[in-house]
This record gives sequence, C-alpha cells and structure tokens, in this order.
Amino acid sequence: MTNTVWRQRAAALAMDGRAFINGDRVAALSGRTFETRSPIDGRLLAHVARCEAADVDVAVAVARQAFDDGRWAAQAPAQRKRHLIRLVELMVEHGDELALLETLDMGKPVQYSRSVDVEAAANCVRWYGEAIDKLYGEIAPTGAGTLALVTREAVGVVAAIVPWNYPLLMAAWKIAPALAAGNSVILKPSEKSPLSALRLADLALQAGIPPGVFNVLPGFGDEAGSALALHMDVDCLGFTGSTAVGKKIMQYGGQSNLKRVWTELGGKSPNIVCADCPDFDAAVKGALGAVFFNQGESCNAPSRLYVEASIKERFIEQALALMPDYAPGDPLDPSTVMGAIVDQTQLRGVLGYIASGKEEGARLLAGGEQVSVGSGGYYVTPALFDGVEPGMRIAREEIFGPVLAVFSFTDLDDAIRQANATTYGLQAGIWTSDLRKAHKAARALRAGTVHVNQYAQDDITVPFGGYKQSGNGRDKSLHAFDKYTELKTTWIKLDE
Ligand code: NAD
Repeated sequence: MTNTVWRQRAAALAMDGRAFINGDRVAALSGRTFETRSPIDGRLLAHVARCEAADVDVAVAVARQAFDDGRWAAQAPAQRKRHLIRLVELMVEHGDELALLETLDMGKPVQYSRSVDVEAAANCVRWYGEAIDKLYGEIAPTGAGTLALVTREAVGVVAAIVPWNYPLLMAAWKIAPALAAGNSVILKPSEKSPLSALRLADLALQAGIPPGVFNVLPGFGDEAGSALALHMDVDCLGFTGSTAVGKKIMQYGGQSNLKRVWTELGGKSPNIVCADCPDFDAAVKGALGAVFFNQGESCNAPSRLYVEASIKERFIEQALALMPDYAPGDPLDPSTVMGAIVDQTQLRGVLGYIASGKEEGARLLAGGEQVSVGSGGYYVTPALFDGVEPGMRIAREEIFGPVLAVFSFTDLDDAIRQANATTYGLQAGIWTSDLRKAHKAARALRAGTVHVNQYAQDDITVPFGGYKQSGNGRDKSLHAFDKYTELKTTWIKLDE
C-alpha cells in the first residue's frame, strides 16, 4: 500500500477510547477522559476513558466472577484453544486496522506495525492457543502405596500492565499465555498508546471469549495502574515497563496481598564487535539496525557498542556513511524506517540525554537534531557518540531513543568486563568468528539473551527477560506458563 492509501484509511478509521469491561464498551465511572494524540502530527485521535480505582474495583469483581463461575477456566483446553485461534483469524483479518492504530498512536513506521507487531502478536496468540492442550500434568515417583499428581491450575485474576513501545505485542505476550491457561485478565495499556489493546478486546469478544474474561482498562499509571497493583483480589500481576516503576510495582505487591509479581524492565544492552567478526559490513549494519529499530524505543536496544580498538576507526567511518539511511520519515510511508518519537515528553528526554552527552565531553559525530517531518510531530535524527566515558549518563542510563554510544576494548576480557558494568541485564551481542570466544562471552555476559553474529533474532519459542534490574520474569515460550499457573500436588493413598 502507498502512503496515500494508508493516509486515506487512517482518516476513515473509527477510534473508540472507551474501556472494555464485562464484554461492553463503557465510559469511566467518573466520566473523565484523557486525549490520545498522534506523535506523527499531533492530531487528536480519541478521548479515552480515564479509569481509576473505582473502575478497577468493578473490573476486578467482574473478572473474579468470570473466573469463579468457570465460564472460561472450566472450558476444556481444546475449547479455549478454538476461541483463541478464532481471535488470531480476526487479528489477521483486521491486520491493517491494528497496524494503523499502532502507528497513529505511537509513531512507529507502518511497515513495521504491519509486518512485525501485528504479525508477531497474532503468532503469539496462536502459539499459546495451540500449546494449551499439550501441557500434561505429572505423576511424581513417590512409591507403590501412594499416588502424587502434580497439576497446573490457573492463578485466577491476572492483571497485565504494559508500556507504549510495542503496545499490541507486549499485551499479547501477557494475555495469550494467561488466557490460554484459563485465567481472567485485566489489561492496562499505556496512557500513551491505548487504542490497539481496546480494539483487541472487541475482537476477543467476537472470537467467543466470554464477557468478563478479558477486560481492558485504559488510564494513568498512578491511577488505574497502581490501583490494580495494590488490589487485594488480583492474584498475579505481569508488568512490563521501566525499572523505576517496576520497583514500585514490587512494593505494591508486598503492601497488598503478596500477589505474584512478574517484571520485565529496562535495559542498556552491550554489543561487542571483535576484529575477527565474520562479516564486517554485516556487523556495522546489524549494530545500527538493532539500536535504531523502533526509533530506539526498544528495551533490548544495544545502545552501548564496544568495538575492538584495532577496527574502531574503520567501523565508525562506515557507520557514519550509513546514518542517513535512518533519517526520520513519515510513519505512514511504507519506505520509512525511522518514525516519530512517542510524545513530546519522551522527545525532550532524548534531546536532554544528547545535550548531557555533549556537556559531559562525549563527541557527537552525527544526528541528535530535532527535525520536522510534514507538519508537527516529534522527530529526531539518530545520534552517534564517540569518546564516551563509563561514568557519563549516556553510558549508564536507558535513553529509550535513537542514541548510540561507542566505546573500544583491547581484548575479550576487557570487553566482557565493560559490558557487564551495568545495573541492567536484558540482552547482549558478540560478533566474532572464533567459536571459543563466542561461547566464552555467551557464558560470561550477565544477560537474559545473548546474540552471536546478529542482533535481530527473536521467536515466540524462546524466553525473553532480564537479569539484574531488567526484571525477574520471562515472557514467551512455554516458560511463560509458569507465571500464570500454580502447581498443585494431590496425594492419594493407594494401600490399605
Ligand atoms: P513506564 O514504566 O513508565 O510505564 C509502563 C506501564 O506502567 C504503563 O502502562 C504505565 O501507565 C504504568 N505505570 C506507570 N506508573 C505506574 C504506577 N505507579 N503503578 C502502576 N502502573 C504504573 O514505562 P514506559 O515508558 O511505558 O515503557 C518504557 C519502558 O518499558 C522502558 O524502560 C523499556 O525498557 C521497558 N520495556 C521492557 C520490556 C521487556 O520485555 N523487558 C519490553 C518493552 C519495554
């Protein structure tokens, strides 16, 4: 599709900002709303229900009722699977619409919303839908006189709080395994990008997921979010967001009912390029592509680049030649690779980090300028810094924007030491043709995922999550069921 067609479709798109509770679109009890505006050009998209504690009480009661009466949890897994697969079909059918909502609401290029976000979200729902009737219980080896069964049960009412950078996909990573396992779910999307999650709820109802089982409450973090996290009748909370808010969320769990709290948090991931990397051009392109994808608004963005000293000059030269490829463009143009920053606050934060890098003595070699694309909107040219010292803010803090800091190293031990010198531990990369070096680095790097000779692979079959202050849980793969199920042991006496 051309950008004209995407624009026409965008103009014709109906956007409903009401909450979704018990199978109905509803206003917040207070009647209050907030605006969601497009970062592409600042235009108003919708007035969104501003849910808060009272709405959370209603949604939790509804979800509890739906769980207790077994309208979903007591369905045979094969039946739940049928509804989830129907939801996938509807997501595919409405793929363009979902992609547009995503792009309009948070500014990413529509080519990626369509080919990455919507595809991956639908695939995630499909994968968990198909998995659920293949999860068997266990018989423990306890001896002849007894039988001990170990079974998995749904936790009950699951709350999911998600960020704005991959709104639909982050929602899918939580709700798909939680729903497949038989839980009732309340999803709180980010106040910056609530529209695709609300539309997903409409489709879930259409797919036959009973009212009350999947609810979506838009609102602010310190209103709807904290009320969910503090609620005494929420059994489990899956949170994806910043480390700062993740720390609060853990406290809320402790202050309330000790609900199971799973956190997927921020990152400042290192990417190590050795002089013996198998393909120099691919390493340069891969390093830039990975950090600038999604405007740098990715938790796993490899924003600290460690290049072996002997090749650093050549590496930077080649990187500078590629930087224009990442110039921001109209997100509705299918050839655009760098879209808009999600909002003015985020843009100010990114520009603030760029200014701090310069003030602290790093050398800005390219980019870092606010630019206009069409009328209005929030755009910045991707920034490349050299001469970065470990103590600088741009070396230590998650920027969540298109900013790359380049460092150098002398040998692998030096690279690993520098790479691990962070409070985060989400992902890491190593580029080398020496198998022993690759294995050594993969073991030594303190991160939930290590990429070797690429930094783009992802699949629903593998866990995604962090070490250290990047969180305590794992999304995706069969391991995600551990978050949303309880293990139950049943002892049966067999002998007289
Ligand atoms: P954020 O922490 O500001 O907000 C995330 C969600 O939490 C939003 O829905 C927000 O409304 C809510 N929230 C905010 N304050 C709250 C509170 N006091 N109580 C309850 N909920 C509250 O993060 P963000 O800016 O939306 O997203 C960016 C962050 O998410 C980055 O740090 C990024 O690295 C991280 N992230 C991590 C992963 C991962 O899998 N590890 C994936 C995507 C994004």
